[in-house]
Parts: sequence; structure tokens; C-alpha cells
Amino acid sequence: MTASLIDGKAFAADLRVQIADHVARLKAEHGITPGLAVVLVGEDPASQVYVRSKGKQTVEAGMNSYEHKLPADTSEADLLAIVNQLNADPAVHGILVQLPLPKHLDEDLVINAIDPAKDVDGFHISNVGLLGTGQKAMVSCTPLGCLMLLRDQLGSLSGKNAVVIGRSNIVGKPMANLLLRDSCTVTIAHSRTQDIEDVVRRADIVVAAVGRPEMVKGDWIKPGAVVIDVGINRIDAPEKGEGKTRLVGDCDFDSCADVAGAITPVPGGVGPMTIACLLANTVTACCRMNGLAEPEGLTA
Ligand code: NDP
Repeated sequence: MTASLIDGKAFAADLRVQIADHVARLKAEHGITPGLAVVLVGEDPASQVYVRSKGKQTVEAGMNSYEHKLPADTSEADLLAIVNQLNADPAVHGILVQLPLPKHLDEDLVINAIDPAKDVDGFHISNVGLLGTGQKAMVSCTPLGCLMLLRDQLGSLSGKNAVVIGRSNIVGKPMANLLLRDSCTVTIAHSRTQDIEDVVRRADIVVAAVGRPEMVKGDWIKPGAVVIDVGINRIDAPEKGEGKTRLVGDCDFDSCADVAGAITPVPGGVGPMTIACLLANTVTACCRMNGLAEPEGLTA
């Protein structure tokens, strides 16, 4: 392995310390405690784990955590009523509706009902538009985390060739917008991209957000490139015993690490950054709402 390892777990732990410091100052100097409300509809096991983890880390950072767990058959009207109640609640600075929602609920409608100033996931159409036009936005947590890791690794990103693999609304597109805002030359690759290996081989920065285990191989990577692997895929691991599984990214770690200059592991790379950035966004939202200076280092 020639690449240096980008330790997202350690970076996220440092970020959470900075966040807790800001929260302590907000309390001591202004008597304000940032609050994050998470709404979970239904019993999806993965979502339950995420929501528990978000609540725990929110409290550990000194913030107020409000959890709203609703049954899977909650009506759209009832869910919208809760969102409106949270929009109006001055103790709530961040609102997150855990996705995916049960099929009978319109995700776009619900997300766009959140007050954009409290939309700490950055999915509201207003925040998407603000980011796309280079204005001050709430930025989605996973791309924000990737950007922080890249800036830490490279300093200025200006002029770098960046290839984002994946064009989802939650990762690929906002990631591309952030890189463009940092003056990268950005290419977005997707399932219809021709000669994708050649496209990726031109990149100084590769962000893989595909959802296909170990798709990106070492011979796709330009020597010295920085590789950010967003993918989280669970695959069978018979070597660990019958029925066992393990997590892998969208990049084939071993072959990519032999060529890249730096790379994020899976797990322990981008994953821990996502919740840390959610907490950072809540503090940012709280400061903006109260007319206070935004904390440095927590925004894009
Ligand atoms: P989506 O399924 O929404 O999007 C996947 C994208 O990959 C699509 O744009 C698709 O292209 C593209 N794609 C699929 N197959 C190929 C292929 N063979 N070649 C090139 N492009 C392809 O996924 P998400 O963006 O939501 O998530 C991507 C990955 O990131 C997943 O593994 C997910 O678990 C992980 N993730 C991790 C997070 C974290 O905190 N670390 C947070 C969010 C996601 P097309 O549009 O043409 O179909």
C-alpha cells in the first residue's frame, strides 16, 4: 500500500470536540442550547440504528435531542403536522426526517415542508438551489464531510480534476456542486458513462458514491490521486465463518491503495463524518437563526 490513510473516524472525533466547544460557548455566552429533532416513521432496522446514533451523539455534544418515532402507517397529514410543529418550535434549530419514508408518503413533499433554515440534511429544494448557485446554504452532511476531508488532505482544491461517480441528489450532485464551488474541474460519472475507467483515470480527486461493492479498481486510479470512498456495501465474508458478512466500499481498497496518494477506508472513512456534519449543521443553523457569527470550520 502506498496511499496514506485518511482517518475519517479520528477527523470526525476532532470535529465533535470542536462542536461541543461551540455548544458550550453558545450556552455560556448567549444562554442558547442548539436542538436537533429527528423524525422516524416506521421500523426500518437500519434507520433505527442511525437515529439512535444521531440522538446519542447530539446529547454527547451538549445539544438537545428530540426524537419523534411514528408508526409506519402514519398519514402524510399527520407527518406534515409534526414537521410544521417543529418548524414553529424555537427550541428546535435542526430538523431531520429519516429517509427512506414508507412508500405511501411523498418524500419530496415532506422534505420541502421543512423550514429551509432548519433543514440540516440540506435536502430542501431551496438549499439545493442555494448551493447550486454558490450561495450560503445548508449543505448535505455526507458531501460536506467529504469536502472537509479533501480540504484537510489537499489544502486548496482549486484547479484539480475531480470525478464524482454517482449522481444521486443526496451525495453525487451536491458533492459535484461543492467541488465546483472550490474551483475544481468536475466530471460526474454515472451508470451510462462510457469508458468510465478512462474518465476516472484523469482525476486528481475521485469521489465514489455508487453503491456497488469494490467497483473502482486500482488501475482506474491516477497515481497519487486522492480517493474518497462513500460507498457502504455489506458483502458475504465466508473467510470469517459461515453466514458472516463485512462492509466494503465502492472502491477495491487494496488495489486502489497501491496507486492512490491517499484514500478513505470503509468503514472508518466517510461514514463517521456524516453524523458529525449533521451536528455541525445544527450548530450553524442555530447561529444563523440567532444572528450570531457562524463557527469557523463547521461549514463548507
Ligand atoms: P444511489 O443509488 O442513489 O445512486 C447511485 C449512483 O451510482 C447513481 O447515480 C447511479 O447512476 C450510479 N451508478 C450505479 N451503477 C453504476 C455503474 N456501474 N457505473 C457508474 N455509476 C453507477 O446511491 P447513493 O448516492 O444514495 O449512495 C451511494 C453509496 O454511498 C451507497 O453505497 C450508500 O450506501 C453510500 N452512502 C454512504 C453514506 C455515508 O454516510 N457514508 C451516506 C449516503 C450514502 P444512474 O444515476 O445512472 O443510475
